[in-house]
Amino acid sequence: MAATDVTMDKVVSLTRRRGFVFPSSEIYGGLGSTYDYGHYGVLMKNEIRTLWLRAMVQERDDIVALDSAIILNPRVWEASGHVAGFTDPLVDCRTCKLRFRADKLEDSNCGRKPSKRPGETADCDLTEPRQFNLMFETQVGAMQDEASQAYLRPETAQGIFINFKNVLQLARRKPPFGIAQTGKSFRNEITPGNFLFRVREFEQMEMEFFVPPDDAEQWYRYWVEERLNWHRGLGLRDENLRVREHGAEERSHYSSGTSDIEYLYPIGWQELEGVANRGAFDLTQHTQHSGTKLEYVGPDGERYVPHVVEPAVSIERIFVALLCDAYREEVVGERERTVLQLSPRVAPVKAAILPLIPRDEGMATRAKNLFGELRRRFSVEHDDSGQIGRRYRRQDEIGTPWAFTIDEQTLEDETVTVRDRDSLAQERVPISGVASWLSAALERPWSPPAAA
Ligand code: ATP
Repeated sequence: MAATDVTMDKVVSLTRRRGFVFPSSEIYGGLGSTYDYGHYGVLMKNEIRTLWLRAMVQERDDIVALDSAIILNPRVWEASGHVAGFTDPLVDCRTCKLRFRADKLEDSNCGRKPSKRPGETADCDLTEPRQFNLMFETQVGAMQDEASQAYLRPETAQGIFINFKNVLQLARRKPPFGIAQTGKSFRNEITPGNFLFRVREFEQMEMEFFVPPDDAEQWYRYWVEERLNWHRGLGLRDENLRVREHGAEERSHYSSGTSDIEYLYPIGWQELEGVANRGAFDLTQHTQHSGTKLEYVGPDGERYVPHVVEPAVSIERIFVALLCDAYREEVVGERERTVLQLSPRVAPVKAAILPLIPRDEGMATRAKNLFGELRRRFSVEHDDSGQIGRRYRRQDEIGTPWAFTIDEQTLEDETVTVRDRDSLAQERVPISGVASWLSAALERPWSPPAAA
């Protein structure tokens, strides 16, 4: 099956069927484009976040972690430009009563059946575009007046800029250094959709890298490359990744360079991650609005406002890219199977432990013991219900890379079968060596199997 045959519908249906993701508030009729994550979805999201934090913080000397509040002083959003300018152009259709993003009409479906592009037929009656602010408003405290007006953050980055001085002084950093954080962001998107690709509540992973102004261009190139390689390391196929550099007309006025790392989703090439060279804009704005100088002063009196290079991505866009990249329908030994060929690093379950004949006391006990040993170190699953073939196919669908089967031979020589999800090859390993086998297997470099 070619990657181009993977549709969003197939991926949505698998994630639903196997409990990765549920439409939110379903028993109340749902809330458009809002989702809840089930067990495997949570495990997989945790893996993505952990790998990001490992690459950004744990394995580096020059980046520290932060977890700032979701609701900030509203003046933060005035200084950042979000109150005045975090808008998308909105058009209404007087005929079908739906709203669309004026700059994304090509990607939108109109409300009539069969659905058309907004503006495609003579019946469509679109208003002139007007600017719509994407920030969710809320009130802080019991009083509902102007003074209590606040916003849910639309990005995590501003929480980083306002902590620049704390980190500079207390973590004793000097440029080049970065601050990384992950957390929920909220945007009242006009046209959410395409499953988790565009949602109103999502988890961002952002890193602001502060550098001497003269070095900004070089660091910007460095981070584009570094982030592209990180996505490759997750197992995303090379041919489905590309970098698209924005032209001057597409960039924010303060940015001297922006690149999208794009992924070939079933809906076409779309932004997976953005890397921007933001100049001194953010620190200068917050200095002006807060009165607190956000600058670097060196030991010999040298002072400057660092420039900022920002890689920003959401877990949701990575999650969808990984699932689309991994989804395959195959015929194996005259049987159809659906398999998620996920990299073992991001797979929600690393191995399944399966007693071949669950009512056999010897097999059941050995399987339980092995499960007890492995679960202390790995995300593993014990499954003793149904025929072995069905159990394998269930694990294939959730992307479990290996299954350890306890069978008759185990009772004779204390070895188990390891079944490989992708090649279906089987080998035998001693039951006592399974933990170290799995640990070594998870360390091995992995690349996606060639398309069948
Ligand atoms: P778009 O043009 O698609 O609306 P953007 O350029 O506004 O995106 P940024 O503000 O650069 O996006 O956000 C940084 C990253 O956050 C994006 O690259 C994407 O990974 C993620 N992201 C942004 N909006 C959403 C959303 N509504 N749902 C899921 N992820 C999002």
